[in-house]
Amino acid sequence: MAGKIYVVATPIGNLSDLTPRMKQAFEEADFIAAEDTRVSVKLLNHFGIRKPLVSYYEHNLRRKGDYIIQRVLEGETCAVCSDAGTPCISDPGEILVKQAHAAGITLVPVPGPSAVITALCVSGQDTGRFCFEGFVSTVKKQRREHLDSLRQEKRTMIFYEAPHKLLNTLTDFVEYFGPDRKLTIARELTKLHEEIRLTTTGDALEYYTENPPKGEFCLVLEGYTAPVQQSETIEDVVEKCLKLMAENNISLSEAAKKAAAGTAFSKSEVYKAAQAAKEN
Ligand code: SAM
Repeated sequence: MAGKIYVVATPIGNLSDLTPRMKQAFEEADFIAAEDTRVSVKLLNHFGIRKPLVSYYEHNLRRKGDYIIQRVLEGETCAVCSDAGTPCISDPGEILVKQAHAAGITLVPVPGPSAVITALCVSGQDTGRFCFEGFVSTVKKQRREHLDSLRQEKRTMIFYEAPHKLLNTLTDFVEYFGPDRKLTIARELTKLHEEIRLTTTGDALEYYTENPPKGEFCLVLEGYTAPVQQSETIEDVVEKCLKLMAENNISLSEAAKKAAAGTAFSKSEVYKAAQAAKEN
């Protein structure tokens, strides 16, 4: 008879967030599939558990997935975990879970912390409807398409970000969502230097330009609300763009970027329309 796979969440910083069920799942498993075995071994030592570990991370997902599924089909039970938080949430696990479904293997969730929900619940933003956006790609085209698709997203959005990329992301937030959008920065959640800062996109950029970011960050961004007055038309934005260009002696490209910030139009839409207006 086939075994099963426990999908086990682990703390995102504070070991007091460990639960009896997490311990039980690790104890019951014949082996543990871990993102970084060196990280998970510390957690298991804390529990006093010694189990064979299999490394299961971004670059061996397919090959190791097949191996894990085979062992479970032969009757063993596996517990899968990531370095911190819930597997499958911007972490390995998603492919293994799909493979397990395809093979008819029983999956058992062992819930626990995830930075996305932890940040949202203290964000002070609307929680009725929200969407998880994970990390914004560092590949220019994908990044642009991702942020462009969110210009009029009405739900609260939650992003993950690494400290060394935070300033770039905040700069883009100001460009795509304007400087006045509410933003909660949740840093080092459940840890010693935990910080929850309810601010705006523009103020956050200013703050972290002066105070270099350190630690782990979740960004909770307010959803789009159409302005009470009739929203700006492309003609209004083009007019603003041409005025910015003339008054500040800046290029059309830069003026289009500034004029498009916080509007429903992308920089390239404004650029093209302004160029056409100039030519006419
Ligand atoms: N699977 C994890 C989860 O369920 O939250 C997320 C893993 S992802 C690779 C790591 C990112 O999650 C970090 O870069 C950060 O954006 C966010 N994160 C993880 N722990 C955090 C914490 N204690 N405080 C704030 N953000 C955290």
